[in-house]
Amino acid sequence: MSAKPLTNLSEINNMAASKAAENDAFRTFLKHANTAEIDLQVAALNESITPTINCLDCGNCCKSLMIVVAEKEAAEVARYIGTNKNNFEDRFVEKGANGMMLLNKIPCHFLGGDNACSIYPHRFNGCREFPALHIPGFTNRLFTIFMHYDRCPIIYNVVEQLKIKIGFITI
Ligand code: SF4
Ligand code: SF4
Repeated sequence: MSAKPLTNLSEINNMAASKAAENDAFRTFLKHANTAEIDLQVAALNESITPTINCLDCGNCCKSLMIVVAEKEAAEVARYIGTNKNNFEDRFVEKGANGMMLLNKIPCHFLGGDNACSIYPHRFNGCREFPALHIPGFTNRLFTIFMHYDRCPIIYNVVEQLKIKIGFITI
C-alpha cells in the first residue's frame, strides 16, 4: 500500500458515514465474488497494512467489544493475576443462563491507560483473533466485517484498499 493508512477514529467515522451507500454496494458485490480470490487479496492487504498501524495508538477493540471468556481461559487468567477461578468470575465475568461467559465491563478491565493489555500473554481467544482478517472466508463474514469497519483502522484500511485492488472503485 502506498498511501499512509487512515488511523484517526473520528476521521474514519466521518468517512464511514459518507461511504454508507458505497459500502452497501460493495457488500452486495462481495457476496457474489469468488471467496478464494477475495481471501488472497485480503490476506495480502492484511499483511501489508497491519504492520503500519500501531494498535497501542488505538486500543479501540479493547474499549468497545464484548469479550467471550472460555472456562479454560478464566482459569488461566485467574492464575496469571494471582487469584482463583471463582474469584475471577465474581469480579470480571457475567455468566449467561447457557453458561456462556462475557467480561462484565467495556472498556475491558485489563486495558491499561497506555492501551496495553495487562494480561497480554493470556489474553482471550477473541482478542487474539481480532480483527480476524487472516481467517479465510472474508465474504462469509461481511456483516461482522462491516460492523467493525469504522471501529478498527486495520479493517477500514484493508476494505478501502480492497475496493481499489479488485477494481470496485478507481482513484
Ligand atoms: S483482555 Fe487484553 S486484549 Fe483482550 S480486550 Fe482486554 S485489554 Fe484488550
Ligand atoms: S485491532 Fe483494530 S481496533 Fe484493535 S487496537 Fe488494533 S487497530 Fe485498533
